[in-house]
Amino acid sequence: MKALFAGSFSPPTCGHLDIIRRGAHLFDELYVAVLSQSGKAYHLPPAQRARMLEKITRDYPNVKVVHSTGLLVDLMREVGADVILRGVREPVEVRDELQVAEAHRKLGGSATLFLPALPEFSRLSSTIVRECAYHRAPLTDMAPPEIIDEIYAVYAAR
Ligand code: ADP
Repeated sequence: MKALFAGSFSPPTCGHLDIIRRGAHLFDELYVAVLSQSGKAYHLPPAQRARMLEKITRDYPNVKVVHSTGLLVDLMREVGADVILRGVREPVEVRDELQVAEAHRKLGGSATLFLPALPEFSRLSSTIVRECAYHRAPLTDMAPPEIIDEIYAVYAAR
């Protein structure tokens, strides 16, 4: 079975990597898709976010990183994914996630599976990582070590 784990990854965090690690274990193939939502400004171009994800997923042979500016369901069809994988941190997230999952079901008939975040990552977000990086605070246990220098290079105050 093939799954698609999509998000902004702006930047990727240890929480994202944990979902990828578990997804790679659960599915035969896991596509990690960098999506650029319309109307949202990102500090990093999708290709750079995808390169960071490639760096941190090198040890997972069944993980493939892609990026897209289109609809998730179109990407699903393109790569032949059977399900959408999402991570959930807090109960409040579930309400919005269910709405999006229902839209995806209507658009393409694709099921969404949710993996609960590990407790140690359930309060971690890309926003927190960006904020810490801006102030040059340590990013240990927040961002994968292979991309920490790159994160500071992009987000630290000059
Ligand atoms: P989006 O804008 O699509 O929410 P994100 O990059 O913020 O993009 O998140 C991508 C996916 O990773 C989502 O399913 C989100 O719930 C999940 N996620 C984000 N942070 C964490 C975390 N700390 N632990 C587990 N899952 C996470």
